Amino acid sequence: MLEVKAVYDSELEQCTQTFDGVEWKSAALSEAARPCNKCGSHLIYRLDQTRKGSGFADAECRQCGARIDAITLMETALEAHFEFESHSAVKEGGQDPVGLCPECGTKTYVTWQDENQCVNCFMELEACVRCGESLTPDNVSDESSELCSYCSYKMSKDD
Ligand SMILES: [Zn+2]
Ligand SMILES: [Zn+2]
Ligand SMILES: [Zn+2]
Repeated sequence: MLEVKAVYDSELEQCTQTFDGVEWKSAALSEAARPCNKCGSHLIYRLDQTRKGSGFADAECRQCGARIDAITLMETALEAHFEFESHSAVKEGGQDPVGLCPECGTKTYVTWQDENQCVNCFMELEACVRCGESLTPDNVSDESSELCSYCSYKMSKDD
């Protein structure tokens, strides 16, 4: 059993190293483990190691052979990383640390600690221009990323 674990550890190490040098530009994403979205294995490696941008971090799973594009990789990593927090946000109310980005439409918008940005397109929500409420994927209007949904509703009624 020990041998199996040793082999796994060294494979994992090799896989993890292929992600060295990726510029995630996100604390949450750099900390997160990166599981395969198909089988959950952490034995995934980066295909093109010459490009640093996180958008080029396409990978392949060594376990099941699945091809994982960079966006799926980021979505899966964040989902797993914040599983507990997202679950308790649903259960007890509160802010889900990962939300749908209003700009690029992927589930890569992080609101966690000092981070408030989409880690895919790097869009940052600011405050609602009408009431000053801090915007998050939960309260932003579908019509405008500068308004909260309440103000956007109010304004559409005023017209
Ligand atoms: Zn896999
Ligand atoms: Zn985005
Ligand atoms: Zn508002």
